[in-house]
Amino acid sequence: MSNRTISMTDALYDYLCNASLREPEILKELRTATAKMPNANMQIAPEQGQFMALLVKLMKAHKALEIGTFTGYSSLSVALALPALGEVVCCDMSEEYTAVAQEFWERAGVAEKMDLRLGPALETLDQMIADKNQAGTFDFAFIDADKIEYPEYYERVLTLLRPGGLIVVDNVLRGGRVADPGENDAGTQVMRQFNEDLKNDSRIELSLVPIADGLTLAMKR
Ligand code: CA
Repeated sequence: MSNRTISMTDALYDYLCNASLREPEILKELRTATAKMPNANMQIAPEQGQFMALLVKLMKAHKALEIGTFTGYSSLSVALALPALGEVVCCDMSEEYTAVAQEFWERAGVAEKMDLRLGPALETLDQMIADKNQAGTFDFAFIDADKIEYPEYYERVLTLLRPGGLIVVDNVLRGGRVADPGENDAGTQVMRQFNEDLKNDSRIELSLVPIADGLTLAMKR
């Protein structure tokens, strides 16, 4: 017993999944389909999808935003947790990966909730803030795209969120590299600065949860 976060061994991780994972069949199928594709490690972990779905339900969110959709596991987890009239705006660059996402949204019966925006996310977000009067309207947002652009996504997403809305940020521990002084690739340097900036950001309530590759929860005050 200890008053710090437990170290995750393979055996303990298997136990955690066996004891708590309630992955819907359609998400299991999407995971199997994605595993055969290049960059399959860009998919979120299933226990993380379940955690995000719980957050969405807890907040009674209606309107969600995602930066970095890939083959759709996270957006589908969120969409299944939203009410029937909920919506998810999904930003991604890849037609190829999001084609898989669209197939599974369709099969899961949530396609009507999904609004896919192909193109650079910063442009999409700026457009939403400027033209579409969307600022302050989103309940929930997930950031999981180009790590170098995290600070810029974050600022825009914060603008788009309502007070009390939640931003969930993926990969904030970078496979442990953030804590290794020998690791100084650009993405890791940006992430260290980003994590520090959020710690000092008085506009949010903050918690860094060591699930999967590290998930930051930032609630807009
Ligand atoms: Ca990720």
